[in-house]
Amino acid sequence: MTIAGNWKMFFGPEPMELADLDAIVAPPYTRLVDCVEAGLTTYAQNVHWEPQGAYTGEISAPLLLALGVRGSIVGHSERRQSFGETDETVGLRTRAALDAGLHVIACIGETREEREGGEMENVLRRQLSVLEPHPNLVIAYEPVWAIGTGLTATPEICRDTHGFIKTIIDVPVLYGGSVNPGNAEALLSQPCVDGALVGGASLDVESFTAICQTAARIHS
Ligand code: PEP
Repeated sequence: MTIAGNWKMFFGPEPMELADLDAIVAPPYTRLVDCVEAGLTTYAQNVHWEPQGAYTGEISAPLLLALGVRGSIVGHSERRQSFGETDETVGLRTRAALDAGLHVIACIGETREEREGGEMENVLRRQLSVLEPHPNLVIAYEPVWAIGTGLTATPEICRDTHGFIKTIIDVPVLYGGSVNPGNAEALLSQPCVDGALVGGASLDVESFTAICQTAARIHS
């Protein structure tokens, strides 16, 4: 069971306070070194497909590996919605990162309109078409309507959608979307749910610790 915290563009907690947790943290770039030095399994929030070059504002897998960073989130819906990320660039980023030796959490998920329009399966199939199974690849199913909204997929939606994803690609699937200490148990105990990608609640040490403890209890 994998629990990962996405700090987005927030300063986030003191890494030393998380040192005992079995979890991944994805802090903003300026805090990567602090997290690595505190001994945390540290991921970036994005990674470019070229090893180096004239790509202002981007970061490459070799540069991250040199810092001691172990992996990267790729294709988060906030990047797809606001920064022009496409399925094609998600595929490029993921392949390059895995080839370079990073782990990848690749995010997929449908919007509310797509789900209500009966398009959910087609959207997920399309987003997954650029990805291939790899021992260091994990998918995060993050329905866009549940991210940062306080709306959570029901445990049944989680179970069914993760089951569907696993018919297409045989890798672990995390759930993401307003996971908190109150709903973690119901979500994480579903079959086919291999962990959680946590946004808002990962910024609070107590909440993130509680979610990690729930995961450990379910796993044991
Ligand atoms: C996320 O950013 O990946 C996320 C799931 O956010 P939140 O938990 O705040 O919905």
